[in-house]
Amino acid sequence: MSTSNATQLVLVVDDDSITRVLARETLEQGGFAVEEANDGLAGLSAFERLRPDIVLLDVMMPVLDGYGACKALRVLEAGAHIPVLMMTGLDDSASINRAFEVGATDFITKPIAWPMLVHRVRYLLRASRAFLDLAQSRARLTNAQRIAKLGHWEWNLATGEIQCSDEIYRMTGRTREQLPASRESLLQLLHADDRPVVDEALDTALQRRERFNADFRVMRPDDSIRVVHAQGEVQCDGFGVPARIEGTAQDITERKRVEERIHQLALYDSLTGLPNRSLFKEQLGRAIARAERGGGVLAVLSLDLDRFQRINDTLGYEAGDLLLQETANRLARTLRQTDFVALSDRNEANYFVARQGGNEFSVLLDGVHRAQDTANVARRILEALARPFDLDGNEIVASACIGIAVYPLDGKDADSLRKGAGSAMHHAKQQGRNGYQYYNAVMNTRALEKLALESHLRKALERDEFALHYQPKVDLENGNIAGAEALLRWISPERGLVPPAQFIPMLEEAGMIVEVGAWALRKAVADHLRWHDQGLPAPRVSVNVSAIQLRQEDFVAVLAHAIKDGAARPGIDLEITESLVMHDIESNIAKLKAVRDLGMDIAIDDFGTGHSSLAYLAKLPLQTLKIDRSFIITMLDNADAATLVRTIISLAHSLRLIVVAEGVETEEQAKMLRLLRCDQMQGYLFSKPLPFEEMTALLKAAAPGERAQGKVNPERARLREAP
Ligand code: C2E
Ligand code: MG
Ligand code: MG
Repeated sequence: MSTSNATQLVLVVDDDSITRVLARETLEQGGFAVEEANDGLAGLSAFERLRPDIVLLDVMMPVLDGYGACKALRVLEAGAHIPVLMMTGLDDSASINRAFEVGATDFITKPIAWPMLVHRVRYLLRASRAFLDLAQSRARLTNAQRIAKLGHWEWNLATGEIQCSDEIYRMTGRTREQLPASRESLLQLLHADDRPVVDEALDTALQRRERFNADFRVMRPDDSIRVVHAQGEVQCDGFGVPARIEGTAQDITERKRVEERIHQLALYDSLTGLPNRSLFKEQLGRAIARAERGGGVLAVLSLDLDRFQRINDTLGYEAGDLLLQETANRLARTLRQTDFVALSDRNEANYFVARQGGNEFSVLLDGVHRAQDTANVARRILEALARPFDLDGNEIVASACIGIAVYPLDGKDADSLRKGAGSAMHHAKQQGRNGYQYYNAVMNTRALEKLALESHLRKALERDEFALHYQPKVDLENGNIAGAEALLRWISPERGLVPPAQFIPMLEEAGMIVEVGAWALRKAVADHLRWHDQGLPAPRVSVNVSAIQLRQEDFVAVLAHAIKDGAARPGIDLEITESLVMHDIESNIAKLKAVRDLGMDIAIDDFGTGHSSLAYLAKLPLQTLKIDRSFIITMLDNADAATLVRTIISLAHSLRLIVVAEGVETEEQAKMLRLLRCDQMQGYLFSKPLPFEEMTALLKAAAPGERAQGKVNPERARLREAP
């Protein structure tokens, strides 16, 4: 149909030539062009040929009547929407009905009032053009929406009804009938994680009567997922009450996919799948910002495979690629398995591995407790890489060098840390392959020392280099020896007497504390029995246990085994550092109750340093509380510390605990503690920790015969700790 102003063509189909002539004359005068056909069939072929703008169709005709012709016309693509004016007999409502049934646009009754015909035709053409324009623009819109994967929806708030365009059915993979109509069931179509977000966005939009925007995943019946971006606007009624939300939904799955791919390409290494240099830098920057705020330590390890070029040259690039991939795997695995709890006190240590390019990798260790601990990680990585690699049937042995830079020691920004780690790595290469180096010279010396210490420590148990010293606890009221603490000593032939602060963390890290701790228990039991056998008033001996021991499944069984000798049973108690018990309180409570059932008392050690909650303290099956030395030191000069000590003592007494003050060195401190009603004290004032023989001598001196004149003389008892 022509939409221009050009002359419009009317096809007149009638077997009556008079009607045709009159119609032609009238219409031509009205400015139309006219063509004729004398029966239905001829009319159809004329239509196909001439493509008129409107058809005038007589009902009664030979060959094919008007109904048949109209029906056939409507089937044709070009005829579907063409206006058809049927000329029917007067007052014949049956034929009028039939005319509409077969698709006539309008009818005009015979005899025809010719002057009206032009108006009728003009009116029909105008209406038809409006209809076609609308249909066309709707089709264009639908098409555009389909191309843009954009759907329209409207939610009637009063009825709860939701209307959607076809595109939305396509997006959701559901037909009109399958798509549920309520908000709740529509939300069920979304990914579970996205439901609350969309629900809240809708609520907010309704409350504030504002636009809403949401991206979410639609789960389709075939299990595929489409990502959809929806926007909507709240429409209010005349009273300002929300009546409906109208909006669009766009399938942005492809766009997201492309974005992800770009992200992947931009931030990840395609060979190993590891984050690349830029992502590493970004992560490092973030970790530094966190450490700046939280005061943490972090380390950057720069790792370079040794002689990588030779593998490329001799076995080919594919083998080289395999080696890089396997290196990436081993790095990730090693870091996953490394027990960072030993490294971090915040229990949130984290690592991040990246490929810098070539044969160079980087590791970020975040939340490191002590800088020197990173050497352990470096060593484990080197061990993991030292195992032979199987490169498509070729077994090769690789090695690497690692450089370590530590924040804030070696640099305060990402670039200087990376540079520091890089130069430390080159230094490691110069030292020979398969090693690690700190950027910082002092750290290097320390790491070396630590390594040597550790290797000696590993042999200490079998060489029988450990000993227990005993430090008496004294009753503040009567001066009697109320107990003794067993303190572990390492008498190393290379280093002399090594203080526990230096080697116990190392034992813990290396997992050796379990074995050494069990040894200490057995030793304490044996010593206690010896005092007993010598007829001495054997004091209760308290043995320190480490968190790692406590964490062992068979902790209680090991204890039971160590004290299985009946005589020792009432004599051995445990000391556990406050912060450690609080760590995993629930499971510790159960274990400590079992310890109590073995007849052992439990003391909380270093109290005041671990931020215990009082509620928890009451839950633990404790008998004794040891106030940390730091409070005793400050107590005399600092009123706050004194108040704290007083509070701790009265709190402990209200929980029926015995209070022991640790590290009492002066008479003034003892006097003050007596005033504050502290029960016992332990410290250099009375005695340093003593080797077994000296402790035995002290016990003899305190034995009933010796005690005739009253209290043990501290002056006499204060003996020097043996080397
Ligand atoms: P701790 O259990 O709090 O032991 C008290 C520490 O304070 C001992 O240090 C003791 O020698 C020291 N001390 C006692 N009186 C005074 C004093 O008047 N002044 C000063 N300055 N210090 C005093 P030591 O023997 O070096 O032990 C340190 C820590 O090592 C212990 O602290 C304990 O946590 C741990 N430890 C010792 N033996 C063992 C053991 O067999 N197993 C475990 N897991 N840890 C142990
Ligand atoms: Mg202790
Ligand atoms: Mg202590």
